[in-house]
Amino acid sequence: MNNMIFHRKLPIPKEIKEQFPATEEIKKIREERIAELESVFASKSDKLILVIGPCSADNEDAVLDYIYRLRGVQEKVSDRIIIVPRIYTNKPRTTGEGYKGMLHQPNPTESPDMLKGLIAIRKMHMRAISETGFGCADEMLYPENHRYLSDLLTYVAVGARSVEDQQHRLTASGLSIPVGMKNPTSGDITVMMNSIKAAQSAHTFYYRGWEVESLGNPYSHAILRGYVDKHGNSHPNYHYEDIYHLYEKYAASGLKNPGVVIDTNHSNSAKKYLEQPRIAKEVLHSARYSTEVRSILKGLMIESYILDGCQSISTHEEYGKSITDPCLGWDKTERLIYEIAELW
Ligand code: PEP
Ligand code: MN
Repeated sequence: MNNMIFHRKLPIPKEIKEQFPATEEIKKIREERIAELESVFASKSDKLILVIGPCSADNEDAVLDYIYRLRGVQEKVSDRIIIVPRIYTNKPRTTGEGYKGMLHQPNPTESPDMLKGLIAIRKMHMRAISETGFGCADEMLYPENHRYLSDLLTYVAVGARSVEDQQHRLTASGLSIPVGMKNPTSGDITVMMNSIKAAQSAHTFYYRGWEVESLGNPYSHAILRGYVDKHGNSHPNYHYEDIYHLYEKYAASGLKNPGVVIDTNHSNSAKKYLEQPRIAKEVLHSARYSTEVRSILKGLMIESYILDGCQSISTHEEYGKSITDPCLGWDKTERLIYEIAELW
């Protein structure tokens, strides 16, 4: 029996890029934003990066509306904060069930259509850059499809369920943008550190039918997102001791550009999304208390959208409300960014 049905051949990244090319303006904005992030990770700039936005980018209008709101805030905090909107179009699913992101379902209430999805995610990312001037982030869930967006992204994360995977690590080593390596869901920090080492090193490997050589990515870094124990309970790893411990691990590692981004949702909040402001402020307090913590703290990752919370995908009625993890709504988000700028 054949359990895989090949529906149709999809265009390769080069073809999609030729059909929907990045403009000169987009290229210029992106280069500038990447340089800004690199100077933070290289400790040449002491700004704090906020990777912030919905868990999943489910609707172009709502996502753009949200990012336009960030634009107004960014201008007021630009001396201290670099905002990197999350435009997450590929969603990892714990059991494989549920919404897999705009790549699969350009319309979350309709059946999957990957050709439409590839075009939709490219268009949304292009609009975000050209209309708002931000450099944006996505998750590199599938290394083999990264190149559909590789000329648009300013930042990618490798998720908790992917960080132990060799293909993710090797692909990260060939990217020319900062890549955040999340701690795995088990919480084992050595897995994350090994992943950073792999991504910072040069490799020869198989990629999309090619023998490729990567030069190593000196801006790959850690993301702490909390973890789940063997009983399925969430535990945080954003506390002072966790970050200090990571500082010590880095010091003993010989890795380049020691850096960490703290994810304030997921297992750090146990998805109690309203805890994110408290968590963010505790992390900033730790950085004020300790120069070691401050030296490696490069950013926060916050799940935020227009409305508080989340809704079921089957209804998907409320504009700007997450259909995956619950997010902090806009008013609280705006207040939080100003507070972060004060505390940093
Ligand atoms: C996310 O950032 O929405 C996400 C799925 O993260 P993680 O890989 O930490 O679960
Ligand atoms: Mn999420």
